[in-house]
Amino acid sequence: MNDLSKALRDPARAVYDFTIPATQPWSGSLRRGQVLRIVDLEGQQAVDTLFYNAADFSERYSAQDTLCAQNGAYVTTGTRILSNEGRTMLTVIGDTCGAHDTSAGACSCEANTVRFGHHTRYMHACRENFLVEVAKHGMGKRDIVGNINFFMNVPVEPDGRLAIVDGVSKPGDYVELRAEMDVLCVISNCPQINNPCNGFNPTPVRVLIWDA
Ligand SMILES: [Zn+2]
Repeated sequence: MNDLSKALRDPARAVYDFTIPATQPWSGSLRRGQVLRIVDLEGQQAVDTLFYNAADFSERYSAQDTLCAQNGAYVTTGTRILSNEGRTMLTVIGDTCGAHDTSAGACSCEANTVRFGHHTRYMHACRENFLVEVAKHGMGKRDIVGNINFFMNVPVEPDGRLAIVDGVSKPGDYVELRAEMDVLCVISNCPQINNPCNGFNPTPVRVLIWDA
């Protein structure tokens, strides 16, 4: 980021500024050219995120196309967020954390029971958050696809294994994305407490939007 872009993204000049409470969902629209900043206010907080073309929700984020196009396993500055139609939806233009996962998917009650035991069946999970939030836009289960996990640390081991390990994001770390088309952004501020993706303590995150 150069100094000019920093100055333009003074929080006092944001057209939208909202703190998503711990464990809760959120959605918001971005017009082409607007910039979204997601701030991990207290650090080590996974922010499960989906994107849809605002004009046609059947075009949506594609983790496979995004990773394929950049020849890399993580999302960070310079990553083009691609849709299932191969078009650039957003570009990551700032990242103080360094790497974000888009391989491990979102937590669900079903996955919790397999990983952590049947007693976790009734714990709140990202999939429930996503269902609640996409329903506000006329979508349902079939519209929830593989997501980005901002601030979630999922190193790919030399043998190809994935593991969710302690997050590396510090309080105040943020990621910035510029919309390259009009998009709907849907977030689950992850409520998981059975693995380290939220430091075993889900916390609030802040979303800000600036005009182009
Ligand atoms: Zn989750």
